[in-house]
Amino acid sequence: MKNLLSERVGKIDASGIRKVFALGAELDDPVNFSIGQPEFDVPEIIKEAAIKAIRNGENKYSQTAGDEELKTKIAAQVSAEFGWEKPSVLVSSGVSGGLLLAFMALIDPGDEVIIPDPYFVIYKHVVNMLGGRCVFVDSYPDFRLPVEKIAAAITEKTKIIIVNSPANPTGAVYTANELEALAKAAAEKDILVLSDQIYEKFCYDGPCASIAAYYDKTLLMRGFGKSYGMPGWRLGYVAVSEALRAVVEEMTKVQQYTFVCAPTPFQKAAIAAMDCDVSELVGAYGKKRDLVYEGLKDKFDLIRPEGAFYAFIRAPGGRATEFVEKAIKNNVLIIPGNVFSERNTHFRISYATSDEKIRQGMEILNGLT
Ligand code: PMP
Repeated sequence: MKNLLSERVGKIDASGIRKVFALGAELDDPVNFSIGQPEFDVPEIIKEAAIKAIRNGENKYSQTAGDEELKTKIAAQVSAEFGWEKPSVLVSSGVSGGLLLAFMALIDPGDEVIIPDPYFVIYKHVVNMLGGRCVFVDSYPDFRLPVEKIAAAITEKTKIIIVNSPANPTGAVYTANELEALAKAAAEKDILVLSDQIYEKFCYDGPCASIAAYYDKTLLMRGFGKSYGMPGWRLGYVAVSEALRAVVEEMTKVQQYTFVCAPTPFQKAAIAAMDCDVSELVGAYGKKRDLVYEGLKDKFDLIRPEGAFYAFIRAPGGRATEFVEKAIKNNVLIIPGNVFSERNTHFRISYATSDEKIRQGMEILNGLT
C-alpha cells in the first residue's frame, strides 16, 4: 500500500485533536474540553433564511468567488472598516478552505511562512504538505505578538506572516499597537500578512483590532462558523485591498478547480447572518472565560485569555502528555500542547460547553495537581 500514497500525505499526521475526540467517544458522558465549536445553535432567523433559500431553488452552483449579493455586502463592510476603495472578496468553504486556497496560490517548495507558536494546527500541516517551510516564532510564556522576533525571522524566502487574533489555542487578543508595529515590520520588507480573524466576535475586554487597518497587504480571513454556531455550514471569506487583488484572483482560479464554490443556500443565509446581532450569545462566553480563569488560576499557571474560547495552561511540571493522560482517565478531555506547538508543556481547554460541565471539569482538573 505504501507506494500507492503520495509523499505529500506522508508529511502530515492525523490531527491530535481528532485522536482525543475518538478517545472521548469511548467515555461515558465525559467533560469535553476538546472541541473547538460553540455549543449554541444557529439563530432562528438565519436558519429560516437558509430554508427559504433551499425552497426558492438556490441549490445550484454560485459564481466561483461567491454569491454577488453576499460579496457586495462583505465588500461594503470591509471598505467602511479599513478604507479600502475596491476590495476583492472570495467566499470560501470555511476559513479552512480559504487557507488552503491561499497557501496553494502563494507557496512554492522552499518558501517560508512565519507562524507565531503556539498556532492553529492547519497552518503547519498545509504549509508542510505543499513543501513550504514553517518558521515558528516562540511567543511563550505570555503569548503576546512577538513582533521583534518575527521581524528578525524574515528572510529572502519569507512569503507570508500569519497572525491569528483572537488566537487559537491561547485566547490572546493582540493590541492595536502590537498589530501596527507588525504592519510596519512587514511593510519594510514588503511581506504579505495573512490575518485569520475567525474568532473576532469572541473578544471580551474591548474591541478587536485588525492588522488590516494598518497594512494594505493583508489577506483578511473571517468565518461564519464560530460566530453563528454553524461550523458545519462551511462558510468563510477572504477580503483584500487593491494591493492584493491578484492574489484573490489566483485563489479564485484554484477554487474553480477544487471546491468550485461555497455552499449556495448557506451563502444566502450568510447575508442574513451579517445583520444578526450575536452579542448576547458571545457575552455568555465572556462569563465562561471568567469562570475558567477564576476557577483554575490558583492551582495552574495560566494567562487570562481575552478572546476565542480557549485557555492554554501550563501542565504541572511542564509535562503535558502525562497530565492529559491523567485527565482523560478521569473523564476530562483536553488537548496536549504539542498539537499546537513545537513545545509540549501546556494543554488546551475549550470552554465552549455548558457552565455546569465547566464547573465539573475544573473541579476534576484542580484535583489532579
Ligand atoms: N482558523 C482558526 C484559528 C480556527 O481555530 C479554525 C477552526 N478551528 C479555523 C480557522 C477553521 O475554521 P472553519 O471551520 O471556518 O474552516
